[in-house]
Amino acid sequence: MKKRIAVLGSTGSIGTQALEVISNNPDKFEIEVITAQRNTDLLIDQAFKFRPKHVVITDKQKYSKVKNDLSGLPVKVYAGEDSLKEVVNLASVDMVLTAIVGFAGLFPTISAIKAGKDIALANKETLVVAGELVTRLAHENKVNIYPVDSEHSAIFQCLTGENKNTIEKIYLTASGGPFRGMSYNELKKVTKEQALLHPNWDMGNKITIDSATLMNKGLEVIEAKWLFNIEPAKIEVVVHPQSIIHSIVQFKDGSMKAQMGLPDMRLPIQYALGYPERIKSDFPRFSFSDYPQLTFEKPDLKIFRNIKLAYEALEKGGNVPCILNAANETVVEAFLEDKITFIKIPDIIEATMNKASYIYNPALDDYSESDKEARFIARQLIKS
Ligand code: NAD
Ligand code: MG
Repeated sequence: MKKRIAVLGSTGSIGTQALEVISNNPDKFEIEVITAQRNTDLLIDQAFKFRPKHVVITDKQKYSKVKNDLSGLPVKVYAGEDSLKEVVNLASVDMVLTAIVGFAGLFPTISAIKAGKDIALANKETLVVAGELVTRLAHENKVNIYPVDSEHSAIFQCLTGENKNTIEKIYLTASGGPFRGMSYNELKKVTKEQALLHPNWDMGNKITIDSATLMNKGLEVIEAKWLFNIEPAKIEVVVHPQSIIHSIVQFKDGSMKAQMGLPDMRLPIQYALGYPERIKSDFPRFSFSDYPQLTFEKPDLKIFRNIKLAYEALEKGGNVPCILNAANETVVEAFLEDKITFIKIPDIIEATMNKASYIYNPALDDYSESDKEARFIARQLIKS
């Protein structure tokens, strides 16, 4: 039986790589649904090339263009964010790959979980914002969440066969980003062009900036807590600039298992889609002579304060991680529009966390409200 997959966010960095993985394995997978927010040209190309049966464009103004261009194909075209809910509910969908960026991924992921579909989760913000609720819903609906994020895929792979064994610690590896080793004064002058040049990975703009500020690692600490049900005190970030070791699990006997390979997102995508099978691939292989040294260092938490803010958000719990995420999305956008400097990013996130209303035990609607309130506060702070 082929797995029929809905790729939410098919035009993005993860989405395009997922379509490549799926189409390279036609005996195992089928592309049932593709979705995009605005990029009609690529979405239309993808529809012709991969022949999904359902295509969603969430920006309603672009509907007629997509509908007209695809009129010759046996495909149903949908518009608007609500249609994401509709397509993840289709009986013909077996698994949903969530590759939408940001808070926008939360509601479609929840709909997919409620529809009982297994999730290949790239959209880490879903677990950052509402990890408690999302993991509970997954449990109640007997849905598996397979991580796509490379670090979490590494941990997941290290844990295979270790069900009954206690984890002592997780080492989450971080490349350190393009500004590793810089002083505060040097960071004052960095530009968005420099921030967008990641040393090891080619990704969407938002996560690339998160990698430069190290907020990405902060978000991943929160993601790891919910995926693996592990206390934050047992999760440690270690900078590993070569991005070959994707993360490490240390067990109660002191043994450490690491998963390694060249930085290539197609691998964790394929592992999540194909689990428990390892599918043969022709991705480039690691060569020891290219990497005579693998190195490790501590992150500089005084400079890259975002990591600390993420731990703080986890400790406070409730809606604080949601506030952290909303403030971060807002400042990243502002930084990309040259409205703030790089070093202001953690300051505004922290101030937003201090100002926004605290909710101890948020329900789904509270997350939307908190997200809106935090964005509003962050925007005011950016202007002042
Ligand atoms: P991207 O910006 O390249 O692509 C985002 C996709 O989501 C696009 O298809 C876009 O059309 C869609 N989208 C954006 N906003 C939307 C909205 N409001 N409503 C509906 N659709 C919307 O992003 P990416 O780099 O592929 O990242 C996607 C997710 O995967 C993020 O959560 C990111 O943190 C995670 N992730 C990415 C990588 C990577 O290598 N790119 C690695 C690990 C995790
Ligand atoms: Mg990652």
